[in-house]
Amino acid sequence: MKKVGLRIDVDTFRGTRDGVPRLLDLLDWHEVKASFFFSVGPDNMGRHLWRLMRPTFLTKMLRSKAASLYGWDILFAGTAWPGREIGTAHAEVIAASAKAGHEIGLHAWDHFAWQTWAGVWGEERMTREIEKGLDVLSTIVGRHVDCSAVAGWRADQTAIEAKQGFGFRYNSDCRGTAPFRPRLADGSLGTPQIPTTLPTWDEVVGRETTAEDFNAFILDKLVKAEGTPVYVVHAEVEGIAMAKQFDELLAKAKDAGIAFCPLGSLLPKDISSLPEGRVTRGTATGRDGWLGVQAAAEAS
Ligand SMILES: [Zn+2]
Repeated sequence: MKKVGLRIDVDTFRGTRDGVPRLLDLLDWHEVKASFFFSVGPDNMGRHLWRLMRPTFLTKMLRSKAASLYGWDILFAGTAWPGREIGTAHAEVIAASAKAGHEIGLHAWDHFAWQTWAGVWGEERMTREIEKGLDVLSTIVGRHVDCSAVAGWRADQTAIEAKQGFGFRYNSDCRGTAPFRPRLADGSLGTPQIPTTLPTWDEVVGRETTAEDFNAFILDKLVKAEGTPVYVVHAEVEGIAMAKQFDELLAKAKDAGIAFCPLGSLLPKDISSLPEGRVTRGTATGRDGWLGVQAAAEAS
């Protein structure tokens, strides 16, 4: 069996409430353990979607039928009233994910804020955001949360430095090909990064494939993937509108010899065997704006 890291991003109130329980059932049925990354602060994601209301984004919304995909409550969350705090409202769902044996990590305190401001925030501001999210999430699951994945893959050297003090076992903040350790400003090597290597549903549907053909499309990529593949699904998509297809994908992947696993189990026993690298700002096809990408270590 070929190991593929399965990462589940949870961005919104509705994704936590409706998507996560459905995913827990599916994973349980297929006997798969994964890594859940939760957003626990206010749900302001509606603001995010409206802010992105530019022609390219509008096209993406239309071709991916965003309203039917995400639901109108997600599109309006935080636009007309203050966003509701997800962790407070859905602590039980989050605790149940941990109890079911999945890896639990921090995605964001305020997903919208991180995605919007990570490009201009300094290290201190980022640290405060992570701290707030970790406090809430650790209290909910009753133990130290030891991994994280920034919202929207919005990470650069500043974010890497900000995350260093939290004692994470690993971070999954960028796009890339295989795990590595980023070089820090003080010259030492930082917390391992486990990059996302495969495209997400919303990045390819309407562009490279259709919703109907998505499973065949991604299965082909999963089978052909080399190195240390990591696949990301969203509670808002695969846990709700696309849950039936995701159920099928889990079955087909197993038949194809793919064993999904939590990201942490992709780390070598001895992390000093990991190569050095960097996280720089880049882009990904099908995704708006900048995101963190794995780059080779700087020649010294
Ligand atoms: Zn997210």
